[in-house]
Amino acid sequence: MIERTLVLVKPDGVYRALIGKVIQRFEDAGLKIVGMKIVRPSKDMASEHYVADEKWLLDVGTKSKKSYIEKGMDVKESELEIGNRVRNYLLDYITSGPVAAIVVEGNEAISIVRKIGGSTSPQKADPSTIRGAYSSDSYQMADEGKRAVRNILHMSEDSAVAKREISIWFSDAELVEYKRSDEGAQYGI
Ligand code: GDP
Ligand code: MG
Repeated sequence: MIERTLVLVKPDGVYRALIGKVIQRFEDAGLKIVGMKIVRPSKDMASEHYVADEKWLLDVGTKSKKSYIEKGMDVKESELEIGNRVRNYLLDYITSGPVAAIVVEGNEAISIVRKIGGSTSPQKADPSTIRGAYSSDSYQMADEGKRAVRNILHMSEDSAVAKREISIWFSDAELVEYKRSDEGAQYGI
């Protein structure tokens, strides 16, 4: 199924001039860029993007808590507290510098983009992924520095989230429909 998803190259990726490499990886996989801009997000935009949704806060908190426990650390914070703390780090980070906002379209684009982007912690991310190949941060180091994990990318999680996120960063008129010249070869159409 053809889907659209939002990719943000966060300030670490823009400062490190990784935008081209990120786009290349998605284009190489047969996906198509249908929207693109460089933005310095406002606080309002950032908090709309990282909305204080309880499920997301709990998911983030649960994932982090698991990694602390694996390291044998004593965790006093609840999952929700960790989620809220990480959200504040993210709001500070995403508003601190330039962000490249990109809409990627293609068959199963949401899961394929996340597969190519790699898992959240660069230390754990497979080296064949963007995060694994170009970053080395970890939950532990980020938490000690009281900041978000620097992992280059944001990628929408599922189709409802992708629709919501794309509408925050782009108007309909900013998204352009066209055909890649190899779509026939790729999809047999
Ligand atoms: P993603 O979908 O893979 O980006 O991961 P999440 O949606 O779970 O988390 C959003 C972002 O928050 C991540 O990309 C990281 O930058 C940051 N983050 C997530 N978990 C932690 C954490 O435990 N500590 C810190 N400092 N940052 C985190
Ligand atoms: Mg996420």
